[in-house]
This record gives sequence, C-alpha cells and structure tokens, in this order.
Amino acid sequence: MERVAAFFCPTDADRERLLELEETLRRPRVITYVAVAVTLAVLVPWTGWVVLLLVGVMAFLYEMVIRRRLVAGRTHPALVILVGFALNTVITGIGVAITGGAGSPLLPWMVIPIVSLAGRFDARGVWWGTGFVGLAIAVVVATSPSAFADNPAPAIAVLPLALSLGMFSAAMMRAERQQRTRSALDPLTGLLNRSSLPSRFGELAEQARLTGDSVALVALDIDRFKAINDTYGHARGDAVLRALAAAIRGELRSFELAYRLGGEEFLIVLPGVDLEHGAGVAERLRRRIAALRPDGLDVTASLGVSAAHGDAVELGALFDAADRALYAAKRGGRNRVEVAPPGDEARDGDGAPARPGARGR
Ligand code: GH3
Ligand code: MG
Ligand code: MG
Repeated sequence: MERVAAFFCPTDADRERLLELEETLRRPRVITYVAVAVTLAVLVPWTGWVVLLLVGVMAFLYEMVIRRRLVAGRTHPALVILVGFALNTVITGIGVAITGGAGSPLLPWMVIPIVSLAGRFDARGVWWGTGFVGLAIAVVVATSPSAFADNPAPAIAVLPLALSLGMFSAAMMRAERQQRTRSALDPLTGLLNRSSLPSRFGELAEQARLTGDSVALVALDIDRFKAINDTYGHARGDAVLRALAAAIRGELRSFELAYRLGGEEFLIVLPGVDLEHGAGVAERLRRRIAALRPDGLDVTASLGVSAAHGDAVELGALFDAADRALYAAKRGGRNRVEVAPPGDEARDGDGAPARPGARGR
C-alpha cells in the first residue's frame, strides 16, 4: 500500500500539498453535492428517489469517514484520497446503472471525480483515474447491454471528456505550482528569497505565541565581497555566493530556513532555538565558511544573532537586533559572530532599519 502511495505522491511536498488542497477543495465539493442534489430533486419524476439518497450517502461517507481519516493523519493521505475517489466513482456508477445504465442522463457525472485527481496527483493521477472510470463505465454498460446496443455513443464519448478535463486541470495546477516555487526561491543560490519571509515568519511567531518557544535569527553578510567582485569578476563572485549558500544549507537542519535577502546578505531562521544555541549555530557557520575556500578564494563572513520567545517573537524587532549585532561584528574586525544583548529586540527608534535589509553595508 505504501508503494501505491509513493507512486502517486512521491515527495513530502506532494504529501503536504494533498493536505493543503483538502481545505481548498472543501467548498467546491460542498457546492458540487448541493448542485447534484438539487438537480436530482428536480429530476425525481424521471430518475427516482434512490439516486438522491446515494448523493447523501456519498456526502456522508466523505465528510464523516474519508475526511476524518485524512485529518487524523494516521494513513498516508494519498491512500485516503484514492479510496475516496474509488468510492465516489463506484457510487456514481451505481446511480448511473439504476437510472438507465448506458442510456442514463447521469452518465457524464462519472467525469466529476477526475478533476480532483488532476490537482492532487498531476497527469499520472488523471491517466489512472480515467482508466478506473473507464472500467466503471464498462461495468455499468454490462448491466444494460440493450441500452448500449441502442446508442453506444454517450458511454464512449464520456471518456475523452474525462481525460481532457483532467489533463487541462493538471496542466494549470502544475503551471501555478511552478510559478509559486519560482517566486519563492532565489534563482542564483536556490535559497528562499525574501518574498516568502514575512508569511512564513508569521506562522512561526504564531506558533511561538502559543507554545512559548524561542526563535533565533542569524544575519550573515560576506566580508569585503565587493573586493572579490572587483578583483576576480562578477562570475566568480556568483560562484562564491552559490558555494556559500550550499554551505549554509548544509549546516542547517531540514526545518531551519535560509534566505538570501539580496546581494551577499543572508538570513537564517532557527525555530525553537534560543540565543545561546543560535550563537553556537552562527559560530559553526562562521568556521565552515572561513575553511571553505569557495572557487579557490579566501572568504569570510560576519554574523549577528538575536532571539526571542513567546509573544516577543516579531520579525521587524528580531531582524533589527540581529542586524545591529552584525554591524557590531563588522566594526569589531569582521569574520566574527556578535550576539544581540537579551532584550535588544525590544529596542527601537535608534535609526536602525525597520525592514530586513534596509541598511546597505
Ligand atoms: P563588508 O565587509 O562591509 O560587508 O564589505 P562588502 O564589500 O561585502 O560590502 P558591500 O555591501 O559594499 O558590497 C556588496 C557587494 O555585493 C556589492 C555588489 O558588487 C555585490 N553583489 C550584490 N549582488 C551580487 C550578485 O548577485 N552577484 C555578485 N557577484 N555580486 C553581487
Ligand atoms: Mg558584505
Ligand atoms: Mg552587504
């Protein structure tokens, strides 16, 4: 089963996306149930009450069983969603079978669940989903051979409809995803760029408020980088930036965040880390960079550290404190770590920048 889940949902990011999409898809799902139920209520004289009941059964199963399992997080979300899709297709198939099979006016509704697979599992999900729907239609047709013999066109025509709707949805979702990834990452170094910092930090601050946890920031600026560019050229400067970014990423744990704020300035966000441990991380980074010799050049960096916990976790104040500490490290001779005095993040109004990176160095 795990292999099926991994086939449809290969990365952790895919898994995250499934859970995120669940919230986004809730509203369209409710609208679909209501639209289908209202239509069937109007069609009762032709299609009967039983199909209306089936919609109720499906809505109940999704909300009370599938969704609950998904939110509980004990089963891989891909498996829960695939079971939900199969259930949806089978129940719709039963509805189609009892309203005329191959001749049922409800036959095109077999396509509806495919669209949700497109967003969740991309083109791969659409191919397999269309295959499954094709199989379900074949079973429905087998229950009504005479209707199929009278007019085979609707049962056949519905398959390209499923495939094309699914493929278009998958392509649009993919483009949107790529766009989002591009805008969140710095193209030169592959680190996060500053555009995604405020929202991500907002979540961490909210979490810190609830748990009382600490968050540490490390501001890092390469020493005398302009001289590297001037002496060896911009291309080697770029190579240095890339090598340094890789070294920074290599020093951090997976949930710690590294941003390139611009130029040769970086910001590292350490959730759950206090000032003392933040200073330890910064010192390790400083040593690693000093020993790195990127592109054969001697490069050092200066670092400033700040931290706060609980309610005091706030981006502007923490950044200003880390930035002041970084400035002190530059004044103190470079290639060093300075730590903001505890409580320094509460300071303001001394001319320091209110926004990350507002001061050039
Ligand atoms: P300090 O030790 O005081 O930090 O000195 P510095 O020379 O590093 O400081 P400054 O901020 O004046 O220089 C930053 C330089 O970074 C200026 C610019 O030429 C260079 N730079 C900014 N962005 C890029 C980039 O994307 N690629 C390259 N190669 N250089 C860049
Ligand atoms: Mg610099
Ligand atoms: Mg600078």
